[in-house]
Amino acid sequence: TVYLDHNATTRPVPEAVAAMVQALQQCWANPSSTHEPGQDARRLLAQARGRVAAFLGCQAAEVVFTSGATEANHMALLGALKAGTRRRLVLSAVEHPGLLALGLRLGAEGVPVDFIPVDAQGRLDLAAARSLIRDDVALVSVMGANNETGVLMPVAELAALAHAAGAWMHVDATQLAGKAPLSFAASGADLMSVSAHKLGGPKGVGALLVRKGLPLPPLLAGRQERHRRGGTENLPGIAGFAAACKRAAATLAADIARMEALRRRLEEALLAALPGVHVYGRAAERLCNTLCLRFGTLDAEQVLSQLERAGIVASSGAACSAGGTQPSHVLRAMGESPLHAKAGVRLSLGPDTTPEHIAAAIAAATGRLRPLLAQAAAAPQ
Ligand code: PLP
Repeated sequence: TVYLDHNATTRPVPEAVAAMVQALQQCWANPSSTHEPGQDARRLLAQARGRVAAFLGCQAAEVVFTSGATEANHMALLGALKAGTRRRLVLSAVEHPGLLALGLRLGAEGVPVDFIPVDAQGRLDLAAARSLIRDDVALVSVMGANNETGVLMPVAELAALAHAAGAWMHVDATQLAGKAPLSFAASGADLMSVSAHKLGGPKGVGALLVRKGLPLPPLLAGRQERHRRGGTENLPGIAGFAAACKRAAATLAADIARMEALRRRLEEALLAALPGVHVYGRAAERLCNTLCLRFGTLDAEQVLSQLERAGIVASSGAACSAGGTQPSHVLRAMGESPLHAKAGVRLSLGPDTTPEHIAAAIAAATGRLRPLLAQAAAAPQ
């Protein structure tokens, strides 16, 4: 199988698996215990924290380990509302469904929530952001890169707007980590969410980076993580996360260059070979690994099942629910019709994607989709 769904999750790298097994077998004591095995576990936790911090460009004391980006996002939004008297939230319209769902829930509970629109390329509307970020805003929360289109968001500009209004800035950097150079210190953000499983680490672990001195109340009470996140630490997961960060730090520049070249090859080949291919965010700054496109108006489900039959797995941004397939909210926010927003397919590459994988994907897509596109073109409208 050719796996082109790295934005959904990635295969854990061998270093991460080895670190997890070692933590499970040899360092399974509780890091809060004062005896010697406990102190060994505590040292492993500190070492892992240092590695994660080095990779993400922050201080070790700014790392709060969580169960993943979803929890980190909840901690940021709910904490910001609890920290002071300001009530308003400003999010982008294209946030991850988990964060968007929380925003909508808070909205239903009476919290004023505003959404910054994007243009047809998926770029954030900074003029709209400027008018929405006023002095009653508690938190501005925007993703670093969109998980469906890969389009990058103007984090530094938003952080400046947020700070000028006296608000905090949170970045959901889940899709940036491991695919773009990333520095919490340089970003201007006060809070940043990341997830281990998107960069070669295990699932169920991630972090919220909290700027030193920021009075963020915890989501889970308890004394771990400097009283910022209660619960015995997931040491095997954290060790795996740290090992993945250490490897990514060493290979990032080469990974980015390779993924970018392969993505370009895939994109150009599909545009040249098939009629009616539309690439989302083509004029925008995008992640090196992400190609979001539609093949005419062919339904994403149909495209994905054809590709899978040829051994290529990918995904769509459309959400499946009991009521059938829902068009992607990201493509809808970019102005696409419901029909087009159900046709968006995402091919996302990883550091282990090879030229052979890309050749296979091009062959599968052109071979299997050309007849379907011809059929659709011949059908009466
Ligand atoms: N935020 C973004 C932008 C994502 O792409 C994802 C991945 O699904 C998440 C948050 C959720 O991360 P996790 O699986 O660690 O909760």
